[in-house]
Amino acid sequence: MKFEIYLFDLDGTLLNLGNIGAYADQILVKTLNELKAPKIPERDERYKFWSAGNNYLELLHKWGVSKAQKFWRQYDKVDFKQRKALYNQKKIALFGDVKTILERIYNHKDGKKIAIVTNTANYVVDYILKKFDIATFFQEIFSMGFKNDQKSAKPSPSGIFSILESFHYDPNVHKALMIGDSISDIIAAKRANIFACLIKRDKMRYEKGFNSWKFQPDYIIERLDELLKL
Ligand SMILES: [Mg+2]
Repeated sequence: MKFEIYLFDLDGTLLNLGNIGAYADQILVKTLNELKAPKIPERDERYKFWSAGNNYLELLHKWGVSKAQKFWRQYDKVDFKQRKALYNQKKIALFGDVKTILERIYNHKDGKKIAIVTNTANYVVDYILKKFDIATFFQEIFSMGFKNDQKSAKPSPSGIFSILESFHYDPNVHKALMIGDSISDIIAAKRANIFACLIKRDKMRYEKGFNSWKFQPDYIIERLDELLKL
């Protein structure tokens, strides 16, 4: 375990929300409905939303939603409500290997540092970490809300930079690894100049593979215990 710092994505990496694309899409549709958007866009156009970078604002505008801040506030509310319902119905859970591996890293004799870098709203993250009893493993959390606005969401490296700073990271001394299930985790990590590890939780995600990605992961794993060998 050559890394001193481990940064984890939350959704789809630690927390199993099923098909993550379908989950996010369902929240998007509910949000647009609640905001009384004049027309709900077709699925293909909705899918563009998640890979549009900052151009997502143009899409929102096209759909009749002019205020991005209002949109995200509503999105987070819908997301929170949905997660609480799914939790109460026991339909969401951590992936089976999460607690054991977090414990192994946390208790490592060399004193590893562990954090979360997520695009999910802070109060939603707090709820999930508390309900699944894993909050103690993380010394730092970067989530959306307060001063962290959508511009600092991954694929922006801002969240990673902010955590590295609080860990007094020195690239000449330390090695840091970002572990995530999506392309935006990999882009954010490489932009921040740290190591990137893609975890393939869902084999059907990125069916076409990753070779065309501009930023390549340094490692590809299928289970978290593989981290112990890196
Ligand atoms: Mg994810």
